[in-house]
Amino acid sequence: MAEGHILIVEDEEKIAAVLKGYLEKSGYRATLLDTGDAVVPFLREKHADLILLDVMLPGMDGMDVCREVRKFSQVPIVMVTARVEEIDRLIGLEIGADDYICKPFSPREVVARVRAVLRRLRPLEPEGKLISTHGITLNGETREVTVQGSPLKVTPSEFRLLKVLMSHPGRVFTRTELVNLVQGYEFEGYDRTIDSHIKNLRKKLASALPGAELIDSVYGEGYRFSPQKG
Ligand code: CA
Repeated sequence: MAEGHILIVEDEEKIAAVLKGYLEKSGYRATLLDTGDAVVPFLREKHADLILLDVMLPGMDGMDVCREVRKFSQVPIVMVTARVEEIDRLIGLEIGADDYICKPFSPREVVARVRAVLRRLRPLEPEGKLISTHGITLNGETREVTVQGSPLKVTPSEFRLLKVLMSHPGRVFTRTELVNLVQGYEFEGYDRTIDSHIKNLRKKLASALPGAELIDSVYGEGYRFSPQKG
């Protein structure tokens, strides 16, 4: 049985073919598209479990594709980029991607990442538990966040991060722990992802709860959820 249907959006034929081959060998079904413009029409018709989305595409680029897809779908999106300086924007609030991979990559790494993203997004904790503190409520079932009753838009990664932190108020989590808990894989150099997610999350929380600094950086250690000191 197929592990899932992966949509590969990549205009470089060779790379696309290698990715497709590796994913299929690993039990996934893979479909190739070579332009960004084809993605939205494809998703309107067919189901994909995850999109591997190249940033540099002819026509509509990967960032615009991601934004367009997010208007109607929460399908996991892993951006593929050759430009490290784009990473912050990729995982930033306005794009809505779940993860990224830098070119050049090894196909094995890509398969590992696809598996990790699917694993962390798919079954997740089935319990519909509410976590509520300091006016912030997380609904594990609907994956919605409200702040003092008003909805707060967060990305899937931000949701998981906030959930981990809020489940253990006061506990310091190292970046590596957070990467493992939130991203579901161990990978060197991905601490930066966590920093970006934290930065975005703080920005969102601060706009909903002005003056409240709920996520502390603990120098040399990591982060903790700290509902109002004093
Ligand atoms: Ca490209």
